[in-house]
Amino acid sequence: MAKKGLLFCVCLGTCPSFKDINEYEVLNAIRKEKLVDWVGIHPQLCAEDGDEYLKNLLKGVDVEKLFVAGCDPHMQKKMFKDALKESGFNPDNHIGIEIRNMKTEEVIEKIKKAIQ
Ligand code: SF4
Repeated sequence: MAKKGLLFCVCLGTCPSFKDINEYEVLNAIRKEKLVDWVGIHPQLCAEDGDEYLKNLLKGVDVEKLFVAGCDPHMQKKMFKDALKESGFNPDNHIGIEIRNMKTEEVIEKIKKAIQ
């Protein structure tokens, strides 16, 4: 069965744009409502090891939609392009969700809207 996954990229955990967000609270809220099949967190998806992470995560796995909470969706498209291509994942099924400069509750609501 095709699965939906949500990754939270925390931008090293030091970016001021994320200072009012508790990532774990966000992921827990989404998984508790079973809005996706799995959740995960990564410190820097746009780094080289982030590419490797995406490739390994998606290769040969039945993932219908990949939601990534983090920076601007257009930036995400550009930065993840090669990793998604190499894993054979259709880039159209990657949905970036901009959550910078928001608070935890606002992020939860924004992600819920994006998923539903
Ligand atoms: S992918 Fe975006 S949110 Fe993640 S580390 Fe890079 S710039 Fe920051």
